[in-house]
Amino acid sequence: MRNKRENFLISGAVLLVLGAMFSFGADAMMGAIMGISGILCFILGMTLGSTLEMSPEAVGKWKPSMEALPDAGRYMYRVDVTMDNPIQSTILCGPCGHLEKIEGGRPSQYSCTKCGKELWLDEEE
Ligand SMILES: [Zn+2]
Repeated sequence: MRNKRENFLISGAVLLVLGAMFSFGADAMMGAIMGISGILCFILGMTLGSTLEMSPEAVGKWKPSMEALPDAGRYMYRVDVTMDNPIQSTILCGPCGHLEKIEGGRPSQYSCTKCGKELWLDEEE
């Protein structure tokens, strides 16, 4: 399913480039149509969202308790911290679906060990 979203984004980019080329060339109308199609493809690609990208087992692990995260260019992730000793945190990386178990509570900063994306950084310190 990941490919579907990427296809939309790639077609969007291609259409935008083609649209720009047409706009600079003779056919401005054609360029405008392609540019708009490109933007639409981009929006489609972006709104397909991460739920479509996840495997069925990842969706199963992704409990409904996951609240909608503000879409401010941050990555999706989920952290579960155990209630009993030994305290362990389970971190599910949204971008790549990697599940990481660490000792102790939620760290103030975490980067995915698989894809290297910084999932969060607490700035209160
Ligand atoms: Zn990751």
